[in-house]
Amino acid sequence: MEKYSARLNRMSFSQTFVMSNKVREMKANGIDVISLTLGEPDFDVPQNIKAAAFEAINDNFSHYSPVPGFLDLRQAICDKLKRDNNLEYLPSQICVSNGAKQSILNVLASILNEGDEVILPAPYWVSYDEMVKMMDGKSVFVKTSIETDFKITAEQLEKAITLKTKALLYSSPCNPSGSFYTYEELEKIADVIARHPQITIISDEIYEYINYDGKHTSIAEFPQVYEQTAVINGMSKAFAMTGWRIGYSACPAWLAKGCEKIQGQMTSGANTVAQKASVTALKTDPSEYRYMIEEFRKRRELVYGLVKEIPGFKVNYPEAAFYFFPDISYYIGKKLNGNQIKDADDFAMFLLENAHVGTVGGVSFGNSNCIRFSYAASEAELKEAMNRIKTCLEKVAVS
Ligand code: PMP
Ligand code: GLU
Repeated sequence: MEKYSARLNRMSFSQTFVMSNKVREMKANGIDVISLTLGEPDFDVPQNIKAAAFEAINDNFSHYSPVPGFLDLRQAICDKLKRDNNLEYLPSQICVSNGAKQSILNVLASILNEGDEVILPAPYWVSYDEMVKMMDGKSVFVKTSIETDFKITAEQLEKAITLKTKALLYSSPCNPSGSFYTYEELEKIADVIARHPQITIISDEIYEYINYDGKHTSIAEFPQVYEQTAVINGMSKAFAMTGWRIGYSACPAWLAKGCEKIQGQMTSGANTVAQKASVTALKTDPSEYRYMIEEFRKRRELVYGLVKEIPGFKVNYPEAAFYFFPDISYYIGKKLNGNQIKDADDFAMFLLENAHVGTVGGVSFGNSNCIRFSYAASEAELKEAMNRIKTCLEKVAVS
């Protein structure tokens, strides 16, 4: 008898971690590899957040918290949503989880039945499709390209909706493309969804603060879809707290209850010390942590200048998040030094082995023409990485 479940067999390993593990192995073997694989800030956790964590340890916050999180944290999240997004939520509508990843899974687990469809504008973040599979749903991909800045239109969305559509799941700002949806674009999307009350919007806003020039809009701001929207956010990106594992959802009351039920049977409340530290982080004026974003902005300028010079790369100007998602379709179907490149994953592997730069192929992001690399790395590493890729591709024999 097959040992694994059909569910497990349907799923893939997370490609971001597959590539970062490969880099780790190469480094352990003494190879000098630059990793631009995982998207995580290279900053330390700000001092006042660390101090709050020490205080929580000394104050013995060492027992289980309520499943959806401590009340003071849920209140701080509500205050943040009011302050930054003009959104009204009660603490009972908030569920704090082990990262935004779990928050998304809680929502999907609460609403999906076998065969229910989830619309994913492609490219999408690697885990979305896999989570939909895990919950026995079916992803429906709406394709975009570099020409439309990797964004879907309301018309494309309307066409993708069927009687089985249960959710729309996207990130804005977007991982991997670095695009974000404007107020006007989201309003049109909200108007479409409001006509289909069975659809829940899962709006992943984890990169909210990493938006260099634009104004962030949450689709929940549109009253016509407030009751249909799950806002997802967390501490990983803007506060450099990836390892602390705190994310949250803000949902209509019925859905918040669903998330609490799922989480209560799966993992219970999130880490108590990290929850307490998150209260401090969220209560602090976001401008205190803006220095990290300004640093990312400088790096984006630096890398944009360099990546444009790489032969065969077509690149958009990412307005948010900390990724570049260049189109490398020039190389697809060709041989590089005799290596057949059938898709972007082969190309990412070629770069890893030949330029010693770790990136992630776009296939698991729903786009086999692009590769993703993070620029949340030091300027020196970024310069060296771009130089290695350029030199490698200038010298390569293309056939
Ligand atoms: N959504 C997106 C778009 C992401 O890039 C990530 C990766 N950090 C997550 C969710 C999950 O974040 P967390 O670390 O809070 O689980
Ligand atoms: N979200 C980050 C990324 O896309 C971290 C890895 C992960 O959770 O997949 O690289």
